[in-house]
Amino acid sequence: MQAFKLGAFELYFLEDARFRLDGGAMFGVVPKTLWTRITEADAANRIPLVIRPLLVRAGERWVLIETGMDDKQGEKHRKIYGIEAAGQLLEQLRALGLEPGDVDLVINTHLHFDHAGLNTVSQDGRIVPLFTNARYLVQKQELYDATHPHERNRASYLPENVEPVLEAGLFDEVEGEVEVLPGLRLVPLPGHTLGQQGVVLHSEGRTLVYTADLMPTLAHAPLAYIMAYDLYPMTTLETRKAHYPRWVEAGAFLATPHDPRHPLGRLVRDDRGYRAEPKAVPG
Ligand SMILES: [Zn+2]
Repeated sequence: MQAFKLGAFELYFLEDARFRLDGGAMFGVVPKTLWTRITEADAANRIPLVIRPLLVRAGERWVLIETGMDDKQGEKHRKIYGIEAAGQLLEQLRALGLEPGDVDLVINTHLHFDHAGLNTVSQDGRIVPLFTNARYLVQKQELYDATHPHERNRASYLPENVEPVLEAGLFDEVEGEVEVLPGLRLVPLPGHTLGQQGVVLHSEGRTLVYTADLMPTLAHAPLAYIMAYDLYPMTTLETRKAHYPRWVEAGAFLATPHDPRHPLGRLVRDDRGYRAEPKAVPG
């Protein structure tokens, strides 16, 4: 597992699962002739992705950004999405000497099953919250949408990842931009969902942005590379235009949730527009 220090924060890049999604849906209006230069597609036109939650040590606290994917949904679900090695998150926490009960804050960027899967686990035939000592931070809008799904988003919002946390009273709903801990801010990044949030970490002059699905992989940095999965693609474009210049100016590191190869990157702008360059995780 790769780790690095961003000022006072210690960051651990976890890798929870590998899975596959339709390449056309992942790149929206970008033609296949272009996106196949970036990534290969399998016989079912799917491209390889991973789940990359980020664990942050902030002073005495452990903060987990995203909870990965779980195995609760069974074989059919696994097959559709080509899911392998779901639930590795737990082993990775244990490798650091942590149990789920040691996590103080869980940040749900949004509540889709590939981001909030281990919010809960199946235990003795019941589905229960996994991080029983944590507060789960989510935007109020996101929690509303996850509990009022419609035909277009129902396949992504699975009640078993949300309801048990709600019933246990473990969600803290936030509205808008909030500094949760010194140097750790939740920032609304609407577009993929209306209530999506990212995380901006800033310490000792260095900045890292956890992009959530505003930029699912580094290959999605160009402004027009917007997923067909986004419920509000024009909002994604506006959100990018609002935040990208600041991220470039800050020289921010980027951590994306699904990049199959690179845990870390940096946003750059040249005469062709924005793109993200992979960065080696500093040792
Ligand atoms: Zn996602």
